[in-house]
Amino acid sequence: MTTELRELYQQVILDHNKKPRNFHVLEGANRTAEGYNPLCGDQITLYLRLEDGVVKDAAFQGKGCAISKASASMMTAAVIGKPLDEVESLFQRLHTMLTGETGASGDGLGKLAVFAGVREFPSRVKCATLAWHTLHAALCGAAAPVSTE
Ligand code: ZN
Repeated sequence: MTTELRELYQQVILDHNKKPRNFHVLEGANRTAEGYNPLCGDQITLYLRLEDGVVKDAAFQGKGCAISKASASMMTAAVIGKPLDEVESLFQRLHTMLTGETGASGDGLGKLAVFAGVREFPSRVKCATLAWHTLHAALCGAAAPVSTE
C-alpha cells in the first residue's frame, strides 16, 4: 500500500469516527443485536429494519475506538438497501480481506477496502469486524450478545 493511499484511508476512518453515519436508535427496527469486543472495550448495539429480504434501514449506538466506530458507520451505510445475500457476501469478503491467508484484496468492497490496512495490526482486526459479527448475529436472530472472544 502506498503512503498516499494509507493517508487517504486514515482520513476516511477518522472522518467516520468523528461523524458516524446512522448513529442513532432506529425506530421500527425488527432486528437488533449487541456486540462487545473485550480486548478493546468496544460496544455496539445494532438496529436493522428488514423487509422482504432487504435491509431497508440500519443504525447503531455504542462506544469504542475509532476503528470500531468507523467500521460500524461504514457497515450500516454499505448494507442499507441491499438484499441479504449481498450483505452476506460483503461480510465474507471483508472477513477474508482481514483474516484470510492469501492477503488483502479489497476487490468488490468499495469504500470498505479502507480497512485493509487494519490487517497489519492483528489486535485491531476485532475492532474492525465487531460491527460485522454483530450484523451477522442480528440477521441470524441470535439472542445472546456477541463477543469477539
Ligand atoms: Zn477497538
